[in-house]
Amino acid sequence: MDLSVVIPVYNEEEGLPALFERLYPALDALKVGYEVIFVNDGSRDRSAALLREQFARRPDVTRVVLLNGNFGQHLAIMAGFERTRGERVVTLDADLQNPPEEIARLLAKMDEGYDYVGGVRSERHDNAFRRFGSRAMNRLRERITRIRMSDQGCMLRAYSRPIIDAINACREVSTFIPALAYTFAHRPTEVEVAHESRAAGTSKYSVYKLIRLNFDLVTGFSVVPLQVFSLFGIGVSIVAVLVYLVVMVQRVLAGEPLDTLRTFWDRDILQFFLIGIVLFGLGLVGEYVGRIYQQVRERPRYLVQAVLEREPESSAWQKRSSSATTT
Ligand code: UDP
Ligand code: MG
Repeated sequence: MDLSVVIPVYNEEEGLPALFERLYPALDALKVGYEVIFVNDGSRDRSAALLREQFARRPDVTRVVLLNGNFGQHLAIMAGFERTRGERVVTLDADLQNPPEEIARLLAKMDEGYDYVGGVRSERHDNAFRRFGSRAMNRLRERITRIRMSDQGCMLRAYSRPIIDAINACREVSTFIPALAYTFAHRPTEVEVAHESRAAGTSKYSVYKLIRLNFDLVTGFSVVPLQVFSLFGIGVSIVAVLVYLVVMVQRVLAGEPLDTLRTFWDRDILQFFLIGIVLFGLGLVGEYVGRIYQQVRERPRYLVQAVLEREPESSAWQKRSSSATTT
């Protein structure tokens, strides 16, 4: 099996027939062994029935995972990933915004030796609000995480088997697949892909769902929001001390008697100083919470690409003895 294509489906009954019509010829044209894994994310329309029919039509290359409820696009893709058998895995949306014909372009890039190829939508066909929001979030992600990509929202992407295995080893409950994959990639790259308007139906992301998704991205890959308070707190405290010194100097220059100077402590300045200390403490707690959070996520801490070493001399003997104990 060379290629697994994973497609999350949520209330896409209007678009699915057109997707089938374009997807399968595009994949057949690749002349590789492939499978398509549709994951129905708890659709309440006829999507599941349509997927069943498609399975009956092309059982050789079609697999369908029916989830029990609506768990969100990224967890639906995770459910698909767990069942992939291909050496390479491609994700795309069910609404034909990611043209299936572009899969060939991703695979060609992988042939050059990259293990993760992200799509970059050359000309995006979405409304201005979405485009603006995306740009802002891409910029924020670029600043507060180590993830470098131009278009995190594009789900037309290709992943190599080791990356999929690493993602499958992650047990976190909310995630953002393109970013998670990037953390495991050894040679990531990007390629421009076409983008089309939704073939049918409407976007499955409400403003609320979009905000939730972006929280998953920020909190899943950065503890900066937790730590930023300590920096802010230090800043406030330092400014308070500087203001204090300036006021003192002014008073000395104004010729105030030494006695009143010694007991001077302006209440506003003191308050700012203490607020700074409190914020610093909050950030410090954030540091620990961040560490606990990273620990409980139980992501693989590192991935070994290869180990260059000589076979230990005793390995032949060990193999024999271990097989002896199992029989
Ligand atoms: N999707 C899903 N579960 C959800 C929301 C969306 O599986 O809760 C699927 C949807 O069917 C589509 C893909 O995720 O295949 C992207 O969704 P959509 O096109 O609505 O997002 P947009 O293009 O507006 O960002
Ligand atoms: Mg879409």
